[in-house]
Amino acid sequence: MNFQASGLEEVRPLLKGEAVYSLGFSLDGCGRPVRGICAATRTELCIFRDGKEVFRCPLQEVEEYTTTQLVGSGAFGIIRNGKPEQLCICTQSELNAFAELGKLLEYHKETGVFPEPDGEDEVKTCPKCGSILPEGSDLCFRCAPKSKYLVRVIGLAGRYKWSLLGAVLATAMSQLLWIVYPYMQRIVIDHYITPKNQDYKSLLILLGCYLLFPAVMMLLEFFNERCTTKVSISVGRDLRGELFQKIQEQSMKSITKRTTGEQIKRITNDTEKIQEFVANHGKEAAVQVLSTLVILTVMLLLNWKLTLLVLIPVPLAVAATQVIFKYIRRKYDLVWNRFSQSESTLHDILSGIMVVKTYGSEKREIAHYTGYSERFAKSMYRADKFWFLVFPIIGFIITMGEYFYLYFGGQQVLIGGMTLGALIQFGAYIGMVYGPLRWIIQLPRYIAEVAVSAAKIYEVIDEKEDVTDQEDPVELDIQGKVTFDNVGFGYKVYKPVLKNISFEVQPGEMIGIVGPSGVGKSTLINLIMRLYDVSSGSIKIDGVDLRDISQHSLRSQIGVVLQETYLFEGTVLDNILYAKPDATMEEVVAAAKTANAHDFICKMPNAYQEYIGNKGYKLSGGEKQRIAIARAILRNPRILILDEATASLDTETEKLIQEALGRLTQNRTTFAIAHRLSTLQHADRLVVLDKGRIAEIGTHMELLRNKSVYYNLVMAQRQTSRLSKE
Ligand code: ADP
Repeated sequence: MNFQASGLEEVRPLLKGEAVYSLGFSLDGCGRPVRGICAATRTELCIFRDGKEVFRCPLQEVEEYTTTQLVGSGAFGIIRNGKPEQLCICTQSELNAFAELGKLLEYHKETGVFPEPDGEDEVKTCPKCGSILPEGSDLCFRCAPKSKYLVRVIGLAGRYKWSLLGAVLATAMSQLLWIVYPYMQRIVIDHYITPKNQDYKSLLILLGCYLLFPAVMMLLEFFNERCTTKVSISVGRDLRGELFQKIQEQSMKSITKRTTGEQIKRITNDTEKIQEFVANHGKEAAVQVLSTLVILTVMLLLNWKLTLLVLIPVPLAVAATQVIFKYIRRKYDLVWNRFSQSESTLHDILSGIMVVKTYGSEKREIAHYTGYSERFAKSMYRADKFWFLVFPIIGFIITMGEYFYLYFGGQQVLIGGMTLGALIQFGAYIGMVYGPLRWIIQLPRYIAEVAVSAAKIYEVIDEKEDVTDQEDPVELDIQGKVTFDNVGFGYKVYKPVLKNISFEVQPGEMIGIVGPSGVGKSTLINLIMRLYDVSSGSIKIDGVDLRDISQHSLRSQIGVVLQETYLFEGTVLDNILYAKPDATMEEVVAAAKTANAHDFICKMPNAYQEYIGNKGYKLSGGEKQRIAIARAILRNPRILILDEATASLDTETEKLIQEALGRLTQNRTTFAIAHRLSTLQHADRLVVLDKGRIAEIGTHMELLRNKSVYYNLVMAQRQTSRLSKE
C-alpha cells in the first residue's frame, strides 16, 4: 500500500514537516463526498477536508488508533485522554488502508520507529501523479527518471563499442554519400543539360561514378546491419541473462511480489523492446540527428534565406507534437495497463486451468478473458486511430515548407539568383532533411516506450536484496542441531506472525509442528530454510547463526517434501536427479526403492525414461509425492522438512508414503507439519504454536496429559472426523 496520498501537494504547506504517511478519504461526517487527507508527520496527526485543516493532534497524545466498520462505510479515529474521537469517514475500500495506517502508527507508538509500509497485495499509487502503479511495481513508469535508464541501456551497448562504432561510421558514410548524390545531379544539369554541352565522354564518366554510389552504399549498409545486429542481439542477451540471474537470486519475498506472468514478460517482452530499439532506433537516432545537422549546414551554405523559409513550419510541428504527445501518452499508458491486465488474467486462468475445468467455468473464463482482451483492443484502436490521424497532420505542416521552396526557389531561378541545378540539389536536400525530421519528431514516442521497458528491467535488477550472504559466509558441514533463540518474525514488520520462539532440536530428532491454521507453522519452516530473515532473535544451526552460513551450503543440506510436489518437464529420471545431478543410476534406483516409488516407475512404459509432461499431470498425487521423497533421499540432507507431506492421500498410498518417510527421516533432524495430528504421534517432540507463540512442547502423550492447547486440537479433530463418518 502506498501511504502517500495523491492530493497531498495541496495541504503540504499546512504541515509541520514532511508527511511520513498520508491517506485520502472521500466522505465527510454526513456521508457527502469530500476531498479528505489524513496525514501523519513525525510529530503530528492532521486531517484536512477540501484543503482546510479540521484536526491536528501531537502523536504523543494518542493512546490508541481505531478503525470502525460502519454501515457501508468506515471510520478512523483515536483514543485521547481515555476518550474516543472520530477523525474521518471513509469508504469500504479505503477502510483497509486506514486499518493498516493504524497498525503502522501503533508500531511507531511502541517502538518510536516509523516502519516502511509494504503491502504488495494492495493497489499502489504514484505519490507524484496519483496514477495506479502497475502490478508488482513500486515505480511509476510515467514519472520514473527515464533518461537515467536509457543512459544505462546505452552504457550496455557501449560494451560492444567497436561494433557500434563500425555501425555508426558505416551509416554516417552512407549518409555522406547521399549528400554528395544531389551535388552530382546539379553538375549534370548545370554543366551538361542547361548549357547543352555535348561532351558525352566526360558525361559518361560522371554517370559511371553516379552508378558506383549505390554499390558502395549497399556494401556499407551490409556492414552496418551486421554490426548493429551484433550489438542489439548481444544487448538483449545480456539483459535477459542479468535479469534471469537476479530473479534466481532474489528472496521469496521479492519473487512473490510479482506474478510469474509479469516476470516472464519482463524477461522476454521488455528485453525484446530494448533489443529492437538498439537495432532500429538507437544508432539511427545519433546518425539521423547528425545527418540532419550536416544537411542543414550544407543548405544554409547554399542559400540561407531559402533554408530559413523552408524551416518555418518546423517549430510549429515540434510544438504541436509536444502538446499532442502529452495527450497521446495517456492513451498509450492506458493501452499498456490494459495489456498488462489481459496478460495477467490469461496467465492466471491458464495456471488454474484444473480449477476452471473442474468447476466447468470455461464459459465464464472465456467471457472474463475476452472482456479484458476487448478492452485492450479498444484502447489500442483509440490510441492508434488518434496517432494516425495526428501524424499526417504534422507531416502536412512540415511539408508546407516545400511550397515555400518551390515558390521562392523558382522565383530566384527566374531572376537568375540561383541555377536550376542548385535548385534541384536544394530540393533533394529538403527531401533528405524532412525524412529525418519526421522521424526525430516521432522519436519521443519510441523513447517513451523503450524507457518504460528499461525502467521495468532495471527496477528488478536494482532491487535491494533482503536475504543475502555475508562477506565471508561459513560453509558448514551440518550435524543437525537447530536452536531457535527468541525468534520474532512478521512478513510486515508491524504485523508479527511469530513471537519469542525459543527451543532447541538435537541432531536426528523428529519435531512435529502443530497449531491451528494460519498460526505460523509454514512460516517457521520458511525461516529454517532462510527464505526470509528473522526480524528479531536468531536461528542457529550447530551453533552458527543462519545469517552467517552460505545460502548454498545451507540449502544443499536441507531436503524438503511439500504437499504440492512440483515436477519439471522431462523424464522421471531427470526429476529425481534434480536433487543431485551427478548421482549414478544405482543411486537413483536405490532412492526410488526406499521411497516406494520403484515399482510404479517400472510399470510405466518407459520406466525411468518416461516423459512426465507439463507439471507431471500424468502422475497421481501419491506418485508425485514418492518422486519427491526419492529426490529428498538422493539428496541425503542433514535437515529434513515435511510440510503436510501426507495430506489428501488415500489410506493405501499414505501407508506407502509413511513407510518411505519413516526410512527418510532416520538419523536426520526432521521438522514435520501435518494437518492430521495422528500422523505426528511418533515424533520425538511436538512444538505447539498458538497465537504466534509456543504454547507447549513435549511428546504426544505428555501433551495429551497436559490437557491444554494440543489436547484441545486433538479432541476437536477427533470430533470432526467422527462427525464426518456419521
Ligand atoms: P500455517 O502454516 O500455520 O497455516 P502460515 O505460516 O502459512 O500459517 O501463515 C501465518 C500467517 O502469515 C498467516 O496470517 C498468513 O496470512 C501470513 N502469511 C503467510 N505467508 C505470507 C506471505 N508470503 N506474505 C504475507 N503474509 C503471509
